[in-house]
Amino acid sequence: MKEGKDLHSSTEFENNTETPITRKGFLSMTGKYVAAGAIGSAVISGGISPVSAQKNEPGKQTRQLSKPDEQIVLDKWKSEYDQASAPVPMPLPPDKRVGYAVVGLGHLSLEEIIPALNMCKKSKLVALVSGNPEKMKKVAGQYAIKPDSCYSYQTYDQLKNNPEVEVIYIVLPNSMHKEFTIRGAKAGKHILCEKPMANSSKECQEMIDACADAKVKLMVAYRIQYQPHNRKLRELLQKKEFGNTKMVEASNCQSSANPDHWRHKKKLAGGGALPDIGLYCLNTTRFILGEEPTEVFAYQYSTPGNPLFTEVEEMVSWQMKFPGGVFASCSTHYNVHESRRYRVLCEKGWLNLDKAYAYKGQDLSTAKADGKLELHQNIGIAEVNQFMTEMDYFSDCVINNKKPFTPGEEGLQDHIIMEAIYQSAKEGKPVKITNLKKPVDYRGPEPELA
Ligand code: NAD
Repeated sequence: MKEGKDLHSSTEFENNTETPITRKGFLSMTGKYVAAGAIGSAVISGGISPVSAQKNEPGKQTRQLSKPDEQIVLDKWKSEYDQASAPVPMPLPPDKRVGYAVVGLGHLSLEEIIPALNMCKKSKLVALVSGNPEKMKKVAGQYAIKPDSCYSYQTYDQLKNNPEVEVIYIVLPNSMHKEFTIRGAKAGKHILCEKPMANSSKECQEMIDACADAKVKLMVAYRIQYQPHNRKLRELLQKKEFGNTKMVEASNCQSSANPDHWRHKKKLAGGGALPDIGLYCLNTTRFILGEEPTEVFAYQYSTPGNPLFTEVEEMVSWQMKFPGGVFASCSTHYNVHESRRYRVLCEKGWLNLDKAYAYKGQDLSTAKADGKLELHQNIGIAEVNQFMTEMDYFSDCVINNKKPFTPGEEGLQDHIIMEAIYQSAKEGKPVKITNLKKPVDYRGPEPELA
């Protein structure tokens, strides 16, 4: 299951099978024009396509059970005026799924990742790593993990002797990502690492190098890049359905209350709102535009005397300039009511995504002028569990020996930009960024997600 030759391909959207909603198609669905303020609705199915048989190497096809001609097709009974269902799921039998060890049993692991592993079609939970043996025992009991597949941070390296584990998913405080990625790579396991990838671009490079040396795959868990509403919006921009893109406004905000939590300790978190949640504005803007910023200008603020923000920042607001003439205005805050959204302003209309970075509830709407009318459209897309999609995607990379779409280099780019943002806020002037790679030069092939 080690990485051989990476299969790069064009980053164009040619592999995406979703049908764009044209104005004509939209009108045929609603049967009428809608004036400003009225909302039309079109719903698109989500799901995962069967494992591709095309890019396998000989000897790597042991899990290849879902050939296209084996797709189960059920009798059609719905009319075409209702939303089409996704294809019947084609889960791999449990003994063929990619085994995961989850490292760190905090909120994200216990509330999202481990439950999602139970819903996966290509991935399964086979091992746990924790510093808390009592908690790990409970979780192992709940999810039927064998006692000898439970590891401490000290015995973590023994994962190399556990053949059931192919992927290690690192869900620890940010400062621990580097150590556990490098140790995991040395144990010969593929690495899925939570965002932010590390605490600095230097650490990111060390992680990339360690995984390359060990010939294992490294993916940063940027779930938004596999999320259907965000992908649909990107597709509409790529097709210039609203003309050229001119501006992006993005913000990701929430509130926190515990000054003793690792997120408020600089050494463990690396920073405050920016690397934790502002990163979504940064990474998603880069993803939808397909470009890298050349310059940033930032403000940073923390309320004096607030014990939450003695070590890390409360708020960052920053601008990014892109080579194609697009400007992005982003902000992040740790001390306001939750709000996670962005809007893309184009020559002929706008696209708005509310709850853009949330685990669920995305709400995609657009507006476009049509003579005296302004057409408003609400694009409904069936929700998918983002963690399930992301893990099954990475398992597919492992099974079919593909480089991930969000490899370590994607995390490195974000850290280079975040360092420029902090520098700009500190110096009070714009900072140019000259050392970013083109995404086409490091990304794996476009994910085949329905
Ligand atoms: P958490 O505090 O709930 O869990 C962290 C775990 O690490 C706990 O089990 C804790 O016991 C353990 N730990 C080990 N050493 C520790 C130490 N020295 N100090 C504190 N905890 C220690 O955090 P979380 O919300 O689960 O976040 C974990 C990682 O996941 C972070 O990198 C975070 O950025 C990322 N995250 C990603 C998303 C996403 O949507 N992709 C969402 C939340 C968190």
